[in-house]
Amino acid sequence: MTAAPIFYSIRPSHPEAHFFEVRCTLAAADPAGQRFALPAWTPGSYLIRDFARHIVSIRAEAAGQRVALDKIDKHTWRAAPVDEAAPLTVICEVYAWDLSVRGAHLDQTHAFFNGSSVFLCPLGHEQRPCLLDIQPPVGTRYRDWRVATAMAPAHGERGCAEDHGFGLHGASCYDELIDHPVEMGVLTLASFTACSVLHEVAISGHHDCDLTRLTADLTRICEWQIRLFGEPAPMPRYVFLITAVGDGYGGLEHRASTALLCARDDLPYPGMTGTPERYRTLLGLCSHEYFHSWNVKRIKPAAFTACNLAVENYTTLLWAFEGFTSYYDDLALQRCGVITVEDWLALVAATIDKVDRDPGRHRQTLAESSFDAWTKFYRPDENTPNAVVSYYAKGSLVALALDLTLRAATRNHCSLDAVMRTLWQRHGEYDQHRSVGVGDDDIRLLAEELSGLDLDRFFANAIDGTAELPLALLLKPFGIRLQRAEGSGTPTLGVTTKATGDELRLSTVYHGGPAQTSGLSAGDLLVAIDGLRVMPATVDRLLSRRKAGEVASVLAFRGDVLMEFSVQLGSPTLGKHQLLLDKKRNVLRKDWLQA
Ligand SMILES: [Zn+2]
Repeated sequence: MTAAPIFYSIRPSHPEAHFFEVRCTLAAADPAGQRFALPAWTPGSYLIRDFARHIVSIRAEAAGQRVALDKIDKHTWRAAPVDEAAPLTVICEVYAWDLSVRGAHLDQTHAFFNGSSVFLCPLGHEQRPCLLDIQPPVGTRYRDWRVATAMAPAHGERGCAEDHGFGLHGASCYDELIDHPVEMGVLTLASFTACSVLHEVAISGHHDCDLTRLTADLTRICEWQIRLFGEPAPMPRYVFLITAVGDGYGGLEHRASTALLCARDDLPYPGMTGTPERYRTLLGLCSHEYFHSWNVKRIKPAAFTACNLAVENYTTLLWAFEGFTSYYDDLALQRCGVITVEDWLALVAATIDKVDRDPGRHRQTLAESSFDAWTKFYRPDENTPNAVVSYYAKGSLVALALDLTLRAATRNHCSLDAVMRTLWQRHGEYDQHRSVGVGDDDIRLLAEELSGLDLDRFFANAIDGTAELPLALLLKPFGIRLQRAEGSGTPTLGVTTKATGDELRLSTVYHGGPAQTSGLSAGDLLVAIDGLRVMPATVDRLLSRRKAGEVASVLAFRGDVLMEFSVQLGSPTLGKHQLLLDKKRNVLRKDWLQA
């Protein structure tokens, strides 16, 4: 016997005040007093966000009578026991004013929500199927609003939700319910087929997009990825939910959709030629989230196979799930022909610059960075560049290094592609309820098994150590030279700065650098160098008069106290990394990159 579904409804009750009214009705509630909880975090974004803080009112009813509801911790409520025959309904008002892909946002222009922000989970009933009635806001101004979500329409008393219409939708369990974000509003819609799977694009906030160009590029990217892992694709339908705003950037992966936030200018416009950087970045983001449909949504770290959404879930493997995904996101654009080899190499060089810039890479390993994502990577402060290495950026370089190591040693017979495909076969193509999570050593063991190499040293250095990756050496057999452009020659303070009007403030003071050694601190307001006023436009000019090793006098305000520092200037920053192609030496390369 299948359990009766849990019935949810959501309605933008006050778009102008950013309130959703959300109801959850449960038959056969816990006779001892049913508990309801909202997640503290949302899968894919490793930070405790305490979504329940946005519940502004909550009450419970059964058989038309009010039922007492006690709050027992920051995100859990317990209803008084009710007669088992009477369904129990909890009604809450949720404030939704977080314009990000991780929360919920509602106003007169659109509505967006992740289920983790709005749907209470009746504890103990997580595996029951869920029905969701998505209701429109009241008023003629909303008559053109439509709905986009990967959640399947479901049959109910009022029929089935029409294509992009309001009405009943269904999910097999709570976990699935909250993994189908929903966008409502005046939507620009398009669709395409990739390897026989229907893909939809729903854009809110933009009406002037070259949909032909966008869907043509997405088709190539999606087909390339489906074929990488092997047909058929694991999702019956896939939806790109795009919220276009003045300025914004972000994406969150889901099992059959992705929620993306982008600037309107990132979208392709009618008459656009070539692939401008902004559009390429958007395609990279789409590619990234789509790759997650396999890597993290279905191939999961062991720690995520049964997520506890009330507390942090620790894994040392985000370098594989975010880093490898970051390697393949732009690589997929290259390999499906959307960008050139040269464009792709420029993106890799920029990632090398990014990792190389921050001293945090000497102090934190990728395994540590993954484990501490909750309190470090996701909670950056002025010391983050000194203390943290990005499992995205360095993780993508480790993927590159591993791919090159496997390819060079096996003359391309083994590659990271083969590792990903086998990960999918062994850990991804599982029955949701019998999942085989990826353990700490599984990726190394698999790469060793497929290649016959001993990769102990590689992983010890790359994942559990802080040694520099030998990228120049690894790229050479593929006819790619890693070099640095000439630097500016200006001596340095060893800081990053933030300009506000004419003021220049230190954002980060690099560990062991000239500024830190002299006593300068993040937050200090630079006033003068060698007696001359410092402004954002003049700082480089002032420093360029001096040589590395010389001592400059620096005046700065810390709070309202004027302080003087003697800074022994550091060596000039080296120029940016460049990756140059040797067109003739392409034998190994041609199995890896598209010519
Ligand atoms: Zn990601």
